[in-house]
Amino acid sequence: MSKPEKVDLKILGRVRHLIPNNFIIERIKKHEVQKNTGLVKTIELRSSKRFTLEQNDKYDEFCDVLDSFTFGNDLEVIKQFDNFKETIKPKIAKGSTFGVVDGVESIDLNTLQTKKGSFRTIQDKTNLIVFWSSLVPKSRRALEQLNQMLKQNQDLKLQIKPVAISLDGDFNNLRSYFRDNKITEFEHYRFSLGWDSSNEFQKALELNYSPKIVVVGKDNYVVDVTTKSKKIENIINTYFKLAESVEESEDIQKPKDIIEKETYKQIKTTLIQTIANQLSQNNKLEKSDFFKLNLIKSHKISHDGTQELVERSQLHVAYDVSVQSEQAIVKLLNELKTQLGNNHIQIQKQLVKDTNGIVKKISDAFQDALKQNNKVVSDYTIKTESFNYVNEKGVFQQDVSQINKKGIQNLTFQEYQIIQSQVEPIFKKYQEEIDESDEEHDHDSEQQLDRDIVNNHINQLTDTLRSGLQLTVGQRFQAIQHYHKFGKDQQEVIEHKENEILIIFYWNNNKESDRLIPTIIKFLLANEDSFKDKVRFVALSQHRFDHYQHYFSKNEGIEEVIDFYFPTEENQADLVQYNVTQFPHFVVVNKIGNISVLSGQVEDLESLIEHKLEEGVDNLKQIVNLSEEKYNQIVQFLNSDALTNLAQLNNKRQFSLNITFIEFQCGENRTRLAPILNYTIREGKEKYFETYLKLLNKVNQFQVNKTTQKTFNLLFPGKACKLCQNELNEQTPQYYSPFSDAFYCVKCAEVFDAKAIGNNKLRVKDNLIFFNAPLVDKSVLNDIDVNRLGNNLKVKKGDPYSQRHAIDCNGCDNEIRGFRYIVLNCLPGKLTDMALVDFCQDCFNQIRQGGPHLEKIVKRTSMYGYNPSMLLLRIPFYMGYYEY
Ligand SMILES: [Zn+2]
Ligand SMILES: [Zn+2]
Repeated sequence: MSKPEKVDLKILGRVRHLIPNNFIIERIKKHEVQKNTGLVKTIELRSSKRFTLEQNDKYDEFCDVLDSFTFGNDLEVIKQFDNFKETIKPKIAKGSTFGVVDGVESIDLNTLQTKKGSFRTIQDKTNLIVFWSSLVPKSRRALEQLNQMLKQNQDLKLQIKPVAISLDGDFNNLRSYFRDNKITEFEHYRFSLGWDSSNEFQKALELNYSPKIVVVGKDNYVVDVTTKSKKIENIINTYFKLAESVEESEDIQKPKDIIEKETYKQIKTTLIQTIANQLSQNNKLEKSDFFKLNLIKSHKISHDGTQELVERSQLHVAYDVSVQSEQAIVKLLNELKTQLGNNHIQIQKQLVKDTNGIVKKISDAFQDALKQNNKVVSDYTIKTESFNYVNEKGVFQQDVSQINKKGIQNLTFQEYQIIQSQVEPIFKKYQEEIDESDEEHDHDSEQQLDRDIVNNHINQLTDTLRSGLQLTVGQRFQAIQHYHKFGKDQQEVIEHKENEILIIFYWNNNKESDRLIPTIIKFLLANEDSFKDKVRFVALSQHRFDHYQHYFSKNEGIEEVIDFYFPTEENQADLVQYNVTQFPHFVVVNKIGNISVLSGQVEDLESLIEHKLEEGVDNLKQIVNLSEEKYNQIVQFLNSDALTNLAQLNNKRQFSLNITFIEFQCGENRTRLAPILNYTIREGKEKYFETYLKLLNKVNQFQVNKTTQKTFNLLFPGKACKLCQNELNEQTPQYYSPFSDAFYCVKCAEVFDAKAIGNNKLRVKDNLIFFNAPLVDKSVLNDIDVNRLGNNLKVKKGDPYSQRHAIDCNGCDNEIRGFRYIVLNCLPGKLTDMALVDFCQDCFNQIRQGGPHLEKIVKRTSMYGYNPSMLLLRIPFYMGYYEY
């Protein structure tokens, strides 16, 4: 009785004629046991040869036909054939032809210009070809190491042709890499389209991972492909020694084991019934230890479907474990030998790595560097205590936050750099060692665990080092180094001079910085005389100058108003020091050299600086350190009757105030910085605050950051519509233009001609304020932020314009299309996150007509203090979030 034919063999039989005759197909039954996954039984199909790159069409045809037969089968079968395709598809590997690389351009290292073309190896020379990308650290490293190796080994270099082909999609990245790194031993090319999944050559070489380093021998045959630069010298020398006798070989078929049927059966039974369990119960091995056993039986399937046994293996063993587990492995192997007999075990991979040893070496190196510089790591805490004035209740609410850190106290910028330069190469060395311990991808997850241990440790030490450097508000400013001024090469130290206010503006050419620069220019020009020798404004760029060439040619003359500086290297330590995590970022230093602002947002730089100019140096000098006694006095004062003086200011939209204490504690040592007083006040309301401020200053001196809010009030209602003269009163919803001081009825204001162009679509072309009359809450007419009104921008002739606002509606979360409505009465501020509340046309209709969704809209926006009486500014076209 013959067994029914297996599904996979049936399918194979139907596509066999599409596979060339000289390809040997094997069917491999595998029993595999891994420590972390247990026993897995698989059946694999594998081809001895691959389609060549030139036979790509035939391969595609084969796949199409195969897919039509596997369609509808069990997932297992589909997966089996997907794996089979992998073994037969065109691949550039050891022994195959290298071919021609299309879609590349050559790069001239001197001019950094490119020339289109293709790349062909030199037939009578050994070619060393590195595929890499400037964005992948591992591949950069490989290229740099090979470049170094060739520089020191010119004999070798003369015998080969070194070529580097980049996969960078963005040529700018590559350019800036080449400006900083001289990779002169290589001839350079790049794929014009970067990594491109439709490029057959890239697919065949599996260039989705880089680096790939290929040695191509005479006659265009691939000698070897690897990811490890350290192997290259050996590969080339071995090739030279073998008299360059590489021929088309594919996998050179090693003679395979065929052991006795009975013995095989016995091994299999023991593996399945006992060893698999023993291994899964073994608790001597770590999670990051890799240990694999497998047993193989394989048949050759000929064209007519007949099978011939080609392998019945012994038990194969592969492992990659930590030193700590070595004993356990030896014991395990001995047990296997006792169970199966000495001859029946074949070790195929044995790697032992010392992750804990590496971690210890890293720690030691770090400690050594600290010792040499007389520094120690200590535990410390930073406590921030804020007293926030709650308008509704007329009292202060206290918030305390505490961060525990490990750090190095009193670390200067120079010391940081010295220690950093000592430990960095060591960190890098061990990171590489663990990164490149095994090239095969058979146990990625276990390898990743080891990498994580090492990398986490390095990150922790880096953090410790950086913590010591980080400065907070209230501390002394430290000079910033390694920047050069626009148009100059030599570096300049950015220092603080006594009596001068220093404003550092960290910027990048992004949208957020772009928005601020015009304001800054205006502010600097308007105050040129009063700032002279008193205020210094510098812009420190995120990137090196090269990055901004286009920006400065587009904004010519800008550098004459703002002092731009550029770092000599990216990611310098001052970014750590001043806590710069985004751009823009402001650092403001007061007259005596203390940091008074460290923030991404400054609402009103002008009033802040004005106030800083008024501060007396003598007063400031008194307030460097705060005693416990003083602290208690202040806290007492904050809770005292003096609060009644703020009664006139009990309006969230007119006034906000907080007082912050920062305290460092390291062991018994405690330092409390002078308190910082932040307040925002409506213009004209200062007199209500002055009495309180005087009383406060009697208790102690403060560092003060003041923001003045410019506001306006509106008159309501209008008498008649400017266009149709219809009467308006307290009961009629209506529109108003503060720009032309005119009221409009709803009918006239809402005319919209879809066929017209730009602002001509509207009968009233101004941005308009909507009054949702009758007004339940009349206070919405007062204290409106001037900032909030915007500039009444219009679409210029020929400008592209759109009613898709690229903003989500706060009422319904949908993207705003049609008109955008900005609430004018929410919390103060132009730049704060809570300040801008937007609605879409649908939500506007709900608000105006009191529709069924109004309740939901109010609920969603109550945290911004929204109520449906509030005024709405109508914006017709989108020109940017703050552009209206
Ligand atoms: Zn009208
Ligand atoms: Zn909406």
